[in-house]
Amino acid sequence: MQSLRYLYRIGNGPSSSHTMGPMVAAKRFLKHAENADKVKVILYGSLAKTGVGHMTDRAVKGVIGEDRCEIVFDFETPTDVHPNTLDFIAYKNGEELCRKRYFSIGGGEVLAEGEEKREHPDVYPLNSFTQIVEYCRQKDIRLWQYVEECEGVEIWDYLTEVWRVMSQAVARGISTDGVLHGGLGTQRKARYLYRQRHIDENEETKTNRLICAYAFAVSEENASGGVIVTAPTCGACGVVPATMKYLQPKRKFTDTQIIHALAAGGIIGNLIKTNASISGAECGCQAEIGTACAMAAAAAAELYELDLDQIEYAAEMSIEHHLGLTCDPIGGLVQIPCIERNAIAAMRALNAVNLADFLADTRKISFDTIVETMYETGKDLKVMYRETAEGGLAKKYKMKY
Ligand code: SF4
Repeated sequence: MQSLRYLYRIGNGPSSSHTMGPMVAAKRFLKHAENADKVKVILYGSLAKTGVGHMTDRAVKGVIGEDRCEIVFDFETPTDVHPNTLDFIAYKNGEELCRKRYFSIGGGEVLAEGEEKREHPDVYPLNSFTQIVEYCRQKDIRLWQYVEECEGVEIWDYLTEVWRVMSQAVARGISTDGVLHGGLGTQRKARYLYRQRHIDENEETKTNRLICAYAFAVSEENASGGVIVTAPTCGACGVVPATMKYLQPKRKFTDTQIIHALAAGGIIGNLIKTNASISGAECGCQAEIGTACAMAAAAAAELYELDLDQIEYAAEMSIEHHLGLTCDPIGGLVQIPCIERNAIAAMRALNAVNLADFLADTRKISFDTIVETMYETGKDLKVMYRETAEGGLAKKYKMKY
């Protein structure tokens, strides 16, 4: 598995696979075509179908330059290798200089055609949760200590920065009003949720209100193109920070404890990214929100210093109860159902930790098994439910604007 640096990426929303990934691809391509006076970019599959809503065209033009970039949306050509496929063709004085195909495989990661290995080297030798647990038990260490062993102590500086960016996104989100761009007329709600007390506020309703406010805050920042951290993607970026932001003051956890928790959650996200998928275009929303929920649950379980069985059970349940969740963003925007979905998943993550605390001894399904199941389920989902905005809510709801 790769470093957590490539799971927790800092960048602008609204989509890691549709904005961050294509921007990375554009930068890579330009290294081969510095002299080009025109670059044609052809977007296929999900990138064509939700590219405008996800701002793919604007992101790519931002890297290549408005004047010399032509974007073509190809809705017809099948995408056999990966649903997020894009071609770059460079020209000079009308002559073709070179062309390359890339796949945006989720979380801002890109593969060039023919490239088997991901761009960044593996730093984790073990690729299943079972193996990692066995290793940690032998050495009597926690997950965050395993992360430090594989990544070096420098990882803490990076995760400190990750936590800073997450916290800033929460702070901006809970203090901003307005309507999100894109024509759907989606009102920003984090500020209202944060300030408005429930009519019958008690500890339980307050917990839910605050977690939701934080998740809405980060997701709304993402939808408006703000700076966020992929956890594991842009669309699902609100779940982990909401959970951590809620828990930190409640139990006075230190920043060091929070970044150790992010490391434990990162192992979970990395395993899913390596052995299955974190891409909505590949496996539906279960791969994005389900993974985010599992990461948040594992992180919260680490904060409470639960044992490895309990951490595994919390993460496993979080995936299990998102199985089959479709990706059907209205208008191809990362707003409905995405923003609310982050809030619900953040609450679910804490519920999963509570159950795991009591019931870990009785569990029957391993984390590795549920990841395999999620991947197979995702592959079986009809294409219309995988970030094409052609099925589900995206089909039923008629845009009024
Ligand atoms: S529905 Fe889920 S997977 Fe699809 S864009 Fe929204 S958050 Fe991402």
